[in-house]
Amino acid sequence: MEQDYEVVVIGGGPGGYVAAIRCAQLGLKTACIDAWRNGQDMPALGGTCLNVGCIPSKALLHSSELYYQARTAFGAHGIKTGGLGIDLAVMQARKDKVVEQLTGGIEGLFKANGVSWLQGHGRLLDGTRVEFTPHEGEARTLTPGHVILASGSRPLEIALAPLDDEHIVDSTGALGFTEVPRRLGIIGAGIIGLELGSVWNRLGSEVVLLEAQEQFLPMVDGELSRHALKILGQQGLDIRLGARVLGSEVIDGEVRVSYQQEGEERSLAVDRLVVAVGRRANTEDLMAEAAGLVLDERGGVVVDEYCATNIPNVYAVGDLVRGPMLAHKASEEGMAVAESIASGRPHGLRLDTVPSVIYTEPELAWVGATEQQLKSLGTAYRVGSFPLAANGRALAMQVKHGLAKVLAHAETDEILGVHILGPGASELIAEAVLAMEYAASSEDLARTIHAHPTLSEALHEAALAVDGRAIHRVNRR
Ligand code: FAD
Ligand code: AMP
Repeated sequence: MEQDYEVVVIGGGPGGYVAAIRCAQLGLKTACIDAWRNGQDMPALGGTCLNVGCIPSKALLHSSELYYQARTAFGAHGIKTGGLGIDLAVMQARKDKVVEQLTGGIEGLFKANGVSWLQGHGRLLDGTRVEFTPHEGEARTLTPGHVILASGSRPLEIALAPLDDEHIVDSTGALGFTEVPRRLGIIGAGIIGLELGSVWNRLGSEVVLLEAQEQFLPMVDGELSRHALKILGQQGLDIRLGARVLGSEVIDGEVRVSYQQEGEERSLAVDRLVVAVGRRANTEDLMAEAAGLVLDERGGVVVDEYCATNIPNVYAVGDLVRGPMLAHKASEEGMAVAESIASGRPHGLRLDTVPSVIYTEPELAWVGATEQQLKSLGTAYRVGSFPLAANGRALAMQVKHGLAKVLAHAETDEILGVHILGPGASELIAEAVLAMEYAASSEDLARTIHAHPTLSEALHEAALAVDGRAIHRVNRR
């Protein structure tokens, strides 16, 4: 029986590896158990995010966007291209190299900080006792002072479209296509479906997304989601809303999908089908019955505001628990838990200032409340918005679409939400997050000097517009 770890983390994704590094930085003897094996069947740190999530998807989004720009936008800049084409093997190899470099980097950070990487499966037994089963070898029991559960999530599977890893795949399969499918179907027009759909659409696939809900991206501010739907449609994404999938069949190498829309049964034939209907927490085989860990109705682990579970000294973070399934949220929770353990003082996280991003082109990024949420809460608010088409830098960049929007409390002027549609929105939103962290007013943002010419001036103008004093557009009073 090993008793010498103060903290054992189960899961080496952005929640778990960050928690483990922070614990070690704070002087706690820490081990991180992770079961991931990569495409070469080798153990790799970084979890979903680095191996089959954020990083490979952004690598392919960037490559495909360069190709799309070369094909559709270079002409306007007077750049002539001849014989433009795609070498998908090179594109995929570049993506794999980025992933390898980053996952290897975490291994280096573990070594530098003295975190023990235990390669294999972890299971909570009872109290803080953990069973560790290495990929090869005998299971053994660890008895640390604290346990952090960070086992993440995996794609939700549906019986209507069973994966065969060839014709019907999940997001992982769709990141690894070795040929550009001529016709690609995607079930689910959520964040993952739209990003993957964008990649393959840009590379030449005819992409159809079937989305059961009538409303496009209901969590996004309605004005921005309407703009985004139109722009993505113009790019060629065929997004069918109110389309509930009823079943699918692989016949003669093609996938026939039946779905219901507008009260009729319709069908779609595609070469590849991606199931992107959401993700579920990895709790299977995470704990023994005797552990007595309380789960919620979605199968996630129930935690309080400090990520503490119902078991003393056992915490849970990331996709495994409530809140948005986002890597940065997982990491911040991991860090907060590590600091709580080391200091003995619980340290919570504000979930209302977690930014969200959809990395389509244009990108969509937001923080805080949407207009529809404020309306339904009956909160009195003022809106300021500014179109990117009126921003000098955007014009110089040939950007045609986009919008920055600030929602502020009608009486206190505190910023309640910021919504950005445009290139680089993922970076621009950071300013809004910081402003909200500091409970800034729209006036604070309006009085902050922004460099010229930058896209961030659109956010500045949106803040000015809250009070009807944007300079580069006519204000509506
Ligand atoms: P994970 O990253 O899922 O890591 C969990 C780890 O625990 C895995 O390595 C798993 O093998 C291991 N594990 C599980 N059970 C056990 C066990 N019992 N014993 C040992 N090890 C175990 N988020 C963003 O913020 N931005 C993005 O752009 C973004 N893009 C995405 C794109 C795609 C295609 C996908 C699928 C996801 C994307 N996400 C994105 C979501 C992001 O990947 C997750 O929110 C994040 O990885 C969650 O981190 P985590 O540490 O909770 O879990
Ligand atoms: P997300 O939760 O962002 O990953 O998005 C998943 C999307 O898939 C949601 O918008 C769901 O409405 C959608 N979805 C789930 N099941 C089905 C189905 N059977 N047919 C079509 N869309 C679905």
